[in-house]
Amino acid sequence: MSPPKEVDLIPEEQAILREWRELFVEHYTEDIKGLQGHHDNVYGFEVDHLLIDQKDRLRLDFHTMPTRVLELGTRVLREQFEHHLVQMRPVIRVVGFPENYLRSVDSLRMRDRSSLVSLNVKINDVSPAYGWLKTTVYECRGCGTRIEVEQRRARERESPGPCRICIQKLIEDGKEEEITRRLFADFTEYKFLQEECNYEDLQDVSMSQVAYNSDLHVLNCSTKVQIVGTVVDDLVGDVEPQSYARVNGIVRVQPIPDRTFAKDTRRTLSLDVLSVEPLALHE
Ligand SMILES: [Zn+2]
Repeated sequence: MSPPKEVDLIPEEQAILREWRELFVEHYTEDIKGLQGHHDNVYGFEVDHLLIDQKDRLRLDFHTMPTRVLELGTRVLREQFEHHLVQMRPVIRVVGFPENYLRSVDSLRMRDRSSLVSLNVKINDVSPAYGWLKTTVYECRGCGTRIEVEQRRARERESPGPCRICIQKLIEDGKEEEITRRLFADFTEYKFLQEECNYEDLQDVSMSQVAYNSDLHVLNCSTKVQIVGTVVDDLVGDVEPQSYARVNGIVRVQPIPDRTFAKDTRRTLSLDVLSVEPLALHE
């Protein structure tokens, strides 16, 4: 795999990469070396939130833009895995969030979208595993250029725009009529390379708010206060129905599942699960 391209990053992002690199080298080198010889496809690598909190940039940015910071961290971890000859694809699982992230399910509102939260829950139900098309890959029928389009989960598939290379060529050749036709053409100009697309495994997990006392005794488990979360990659197949857990994740806004028309504006909250920490509760 080619080394990460850092030239396209702004200075703040360079700083994030640097701090992630320090964090992994300072605290996790031995753990990474210990993974040599494992042959799973994907590996969920737990990172203690406390260590993120000790880095100036990460502390701030992980809180305000967790998705981007995790993307950058994954780049660094992938590089560290390669450096230590670990062949799996890493996924960062941040654990040990401080108590101030702890929220109750019924307190979540639209304004919490994109925020990091921790929830104490009982796992009610886990859907069968399924997949989604994360990146679609196309090939221009005109010039053979490969185009990748990042997709969003549970949204209409995005198509590539007109092929820039073909348009540039038509401009150079002065074929103006042809340019207009290409700009308004649909994506039949492209061949869809199904086998080269990037897929991600996922499961939907329905969860209920749970309250417990200091003896880890369940005081209340509400069937009314529920939220659906999504787990991906290494967490698929890992979450047990009827178990208790602290689930850490990012609040997302989704179209309601049973919408009957595509442009329905109603939305519901869900959770993109970043990590699951078992709670040893008893009833
Ligand atoms: Zn082209």
